[in-house]
Amino acid sequence: MAIRSVGVVGSGQMGNGIAQVAACSGMEVTMVDIKEEFLEKGVSTISSSLDKLVSKGRMTSEEAVSALSIISTSTSMGELSGCDLVVEAIPEIPKLKFTTFRELDSVCKPETILASNTSSISINEIASHTNRADRVIGMHFMNPVPLMKLVEVINGDETSEEVTSKVISASEKMGKTPLSCRDSPGFVSNRILMPMINEAILSLQEGVAEPEAIDGIMKLGMNHPIGPLALADLIGLDTVMHILNVLEEGMSNDKYAPADLLVEMVSKGELGRKSGSGFYSY
Ligand code: NAD
Repeated sequence: MAIRSVGVVGSGQMGNGIAQVAACSGMEVTMVDIKEEFLEKGVSTISSSLDKLVSKGRMTSEEAVSALSIISTSTSMGELSGCDLVVEAIPEIPKLKFTTFRELDSVCKPETILASNTSSISINEIASHTNRADRVIGMHFMNPVPLMKLVEVINGDETSEEVTSKVISASEKMGKTPLSCRDSPGFVSNRILMPMINEAILSLQEGVAEPEAIDGIMKLGMNHPIGPLALADLIGLDTVMHILNVLEEGMSNDKYAPADLLVEMVSKGELGRKSGSGFYSY
């Protein structure tokens, strides 16, 4: 049976994007967060994103209304019990993910596939906190979800072939291109991307160049669409720091240790776009 209903845990920038692309592909969506106000913000972000797509002629207003009508919200994880697939998109903090997967495992029907949108945390470790390791998988969407084509599909050691193939089909139905890899810290995307972002922050910390010059050099010189510091602001500096911590620990190598400047900015609440200030002001 194909996936018809999707639960999304966390309605932040990734969660609301995942809810949007799932609903646009006709899947019924239930989005869960810890507070009603976060859910309201998530739904309003989806609504303005759909308006933009309508104004650009990428979808009709009827399609936008229909997508919004199949998204429901709740602050109770129990509402996800009947979903075919649940995608978790809460902060990149291992303990928080483990507790959440234990809870999902206890409330969801046995057939539900439990996917994590984690950027770096081991899928095997997440799966070990459930009694269904064969139905746990990584489904790593890119930011901004409605625009970016890739879903990095991470197979745990025990993920079944049936689960991988259902997740690949669901990703394609959402208009994405899934590419698979096995479980390893940071997978492929962030194992390569995060050291580059960290080096950009170290270059700034050591006074090698100003942010505009660092980003300009990478854009004009390497043909990157966005500079590494602007990208860190888009991802969220807290998320960047958490991913580097997971890489440092998982690879047992301090070359991944987050730059002091990054740690300092996160402790001051300078998280990038989501807080209004990071390497740039918003
Ligand atoms: P975010 O801070 O924008 O959103 C996280 C949301 O989770 C918040 O709304 C928060 O209230 C909610 N939340 C926290 N604890 C919860 C709980 N116990 N139950 C339900 N909801 C809870 O973070 P984000 O940028 O959307 O990142 C989410 C995940 O996606 C992380 O694992 C991150 O590594 C991954 N990711 C992020 C990006 C990116 O560019 N930001 C890209 C790919 C993957």
